[in-house]
Amino acid sequence: MSTAFYSHSDCRGHDMGPGHPECPQRLDAIADHLISTGLDVALDHRDAPIVAMADLEHAHASLYIAELKNLLEQVCASGRPRAIDPDTVACAGTWRAALRAAGAAVAATDAVIDGEIENAFCAVRPPGHHATRDAAMGFCFFNNVAVAARHALDVRGLKRVAVVDFDVHHGNGTEDILAGDDRVLMVGIFQHPLYPHSGVPPLAGNMLNIPVPPYTYGPEIREMIAEQWLPRLEGFAPQMIFVSAGFDAHRDDDLGQLGLVEADYEWITRQIKAVADRHAKGRIVSCLEGGYNLGALARSVASHLRVLAEVDH
Ligand SMILES: [Zn+2]
Repeated sequence: MSTAFYSHSDCRGHDMGPGHPECPQRLDAIADHLISTGLDVALDHRDAPIVAMADLEHAHASLYIAELKNLLEQVCASGRPRAIDPDTVACAGTWRAALRAAGAAVAATDAVIDGEIENAFCAVRPPGHHATRDAAMGFCFFNNVAVAARHALDVRGLKRVAVVDFDVHHGNGTEDILAGDDRVLMVGIFQHPLYPHSGVPPLAGNMLNIPVPPYTYGPEIREMIAEQWLPRLEGFAPQMIFVSAGFDAHRDDDLGQLGLVEADYEWITRQIKAVADRHAKGRIVSCLEGGYNLGALARSVASHLRVLAEVDH
């Protein structure tokens, strides 16, 4: 069984301006590194489709979707970018990119559940985990992982899914959407204090949040994951695992002050895969969130993918 790699050129058309860390070059860095390492030939490359509006509505308020569509279509027609918050800018390509990013997550979910592929990585942007039920924020417009998790539950009939978030920032949007939905267990680890300053305490009992102080490094983070995440995940026995794969907890990333390296991302992915193999027929859909040092991002994604695709080199 194979690992799919979902992406689309439209995801490069979303550009928040010169110097913005969440830039189109992130996807180029990942693609280039996969080619230079030879890892690209081990992957099943697929184009991200446009998401169905009905799928967005499983995670977002209808009014929010309608207002965002209206705003982004205006921006597209006028060609003039518009800031939604100080960090989040809509440009002419944003609407198409956001639809492809969520569409990738849903298509990957269907392909995994249908048994076409074992697991998938969605190299998409904009990222999603800060988008709440009714607000865009923190570089995010639609919550790709929450949309896909709800598709697995509401459309495909799964009973229990886990969401794993190892981005350096707390996945406040995913928590906002999924808190109290007992079909979901969400486990997260993030720097605290740091944007968006949420997650402590968690909003509901189906959230396991591990806030860690700045300058925490791989060995301590592995220990916390082993002691806190893994027993909860084992006990929950998810039928599928969604990953908010942010790589901005890397030592070389300037948006946070944590100290993970490529070997830590490999280790974390192995733990997730072991749970998926035991309980979920190996089903994993992983979606790119943060990661802003281009070299560290590309190498960390490769480490993540090598485990997902069971490639040794
Ligand atoms: Zn982040």
